[in-house]
Amino acid sequence: VPELPEVERAAVALRAVAMGKTIEALRVLHPALRRGLSAARAKRAVGDRVESVERRGKHQLLHLASGATLHAHFRMTGDWESGRVGDPLPAYARAVIEFSDGTRVALVDPRALSSITWHPPGVSPLPTLGPEATDPAVTAESLRAVLSRRRGPIKPVLLDQRVLAGLGNIYAAEALWQARIDPRRAASSLTLAEVKRLLAGIRKTLAKASGSRYREGTDRFEVYDREGKPCRRCASTVERITQAGRSTYWCPECQR
Ligand SMILES: [Zn+2]
Repeated sequence: VPELPEVERAAVALRAVAMGKTIEALRVLHPALRRGLSAARAKRAVGDRVESVERRGKHQLLHLASGATLHAHFRMTGDWESGRVGDPLPAYARAVIEFSDGTRVALVDPRALSSITWHPPGVSPLPTLGPEATDPAVTAESLRAVLSRRRGPIKPVLLDQRVLAGLGNIYAAEALWQARIDPRRAASSLTLAEVKRLLAGIRKTLAKASGSRYREGTDRFEVYDREGKPCRRCASTVERITQAGRSTYWCPECQR
């Protein structure tokens, strides 16, 4: 699953291909994605020029010269693959943007859960998002103030993009492990010292992840996907529970 560091890397790659270029064609190849972007609507992007590429949380935005926006979200298995117009399309290409200089970028996604949508000028395609976890304006004090107003256990609360943008299932578990916090704890019960550890854990986890690729496997994780294996800190057995429909991996011994 692409998490914030992978989406950031994808946005950097997209920026390198798309910046300043005029869109020659935007084709949606899979019916699931066509529900979000009809052929008629896709045509609205043709002839427009990419002024900037922005990442917010796990959202990618192509800001166009007309003021319109193309919004892409990878969901579970999406990624960009760049190439040249006329090359055979990569496997699982679900949409393709062709540029007037003969380059193109394909949205590849084995599960076809990704989306790409076009939004007219003045319409923001983004839901309400909290600040980026890496934003220095986020402090333990400000995060604690947000958490203190939340009901429910800390792990699902961390997945709420209105709390912090971009934190997904893998890194929420990793950050809680780093912070030695029980994922079942009520978000509102965390002390300032604990929120300090949590924020440090989130930032450490994201910084560490930004150096690797998400398809490298799970060896690089401290706790995620390690059910039944020894905790890397205390050697107790890592357990898995389900919270809000998602798996949470944690060490009941050293996460309190
Ligand atoms: Zn442990």
